[in-house]
Amino acid sequence: MSIEWQVLGRAGADNALHVVVDSGQSRESLLFDCGERCLDGLRASEIQAVAHLCFSHFHMDHVAGFDGFFRLNYNRPDFPVGVWGPPGTVKVMEHRFQGFVWNLHTGQPGEWVVREIGRETIGTARFYVDEAFAAQGQPGRPWHPPVVHRTEGWRLEARLLPHGSIASVAWRVVEAPKRNIDPNALRKLGHLPGPWLKDVADGDKADGEPVEVGGRKVPVGELRRELLVTTPGESITWLTDFRVEPGTAEWDGLISWLAGTTTLVCECQYRAADKALAEKNAHMTTDLVGRLAAEAGVGRLVLQHLSRRYSVAEWLAMRDEAKAVFPRTELPWELREDR
Ligand SMILES: [Zn+2]
Ligand SMILES: [Zn+2]
Repeated sequence: MSIEWQVLGRAGADNALHVVVDSGQSRESLLFDCGERCLDGLRASEIQAVAHLCFSHFHMDHVAGFDGFFRLNYNRPDFPVGVWGPPGTVKVMEHRFQGFVWNLHTGQPGEWVVREIGRETIGTARFYVDEAFAAQGQPGRPWHPPVVHRTEGWRLEARLLPHGSIASVAWRVVEAPKRNIDPNALRKLGHLPGPWLKDVADGDKADGEPVEVGGRKVPVGELRRELLVTTPGESITWLTDFRVEPGTAEWDGLISWLAGTTTLVCECQYRAADKALAEKNAHMTTDLVGRLAAEAGVGRLVLQHLSRRYSVAEWLAMRDEAKAVFPRTELPWELREDR
């Protein structure tokens, strides 16, 4: 089990995040936002493998690359395209779909499932190529945050954050906890390793079922209690275009949700000295982003969405400003001052 990820786009330009969750048996891909030229960093086959496209919000710099994604996926035959976003996502996507002329669509495959995250409900609409992308709205379902989607190996979580007068969705992918055989416990138990260990590690057998070990039959649940250790899975969070102030309930809620995140990929639009601009445009500054990572105790902080108003030297200084508060801070790009 592992989470592979890549920040797409350049410093000072639009950014997105590509995530592949590898469970060992299968690989599932997610894309967070789709700004201009963000797809340049992916192969066509990687774009066509994206199962879930998750938007934070629909300011232009997060959706300007959508046509390229749509062109490669609109009539995908094998599995639907899932689109997720804030309130209003169904309407925005419907307009995007209807921005093309459809007259050769009959009989073509292709299904899009668009979901919008409200405070307490999730709304859904389905769109089919065969129906020229006419919206099929479905009744909303109640939602108890933060989990919006769950598979055997991982789950997708969402949290609405304030971005001026609109909501921006923060996304987190969390692997299911891993259960492994503890070699020390195995040694203590005194049994020789063998095929029976597979029954202990895999979930196929019910706890009450017996397995044969050392010449006697033992309920597999008993062995699991003695031998398995559970470790939390990895997680990655995409936080972009928001402003939350320390000392507010919003800040505290965000910290507790983020707690323990392995990798936090976070917007960092402004330098600490440009606080007034950051407040005006509902964005974060280096010092606040560093503080967020420190208080949440994340594994590492990766900065993205740096303003194009700054020079390369200033982007490097931004990393250092955040680093002063949270040492495990990095930029996803190799930047050289002599650009
Ligand atoms: Zn933005
Ligand atoms: Zn924005």
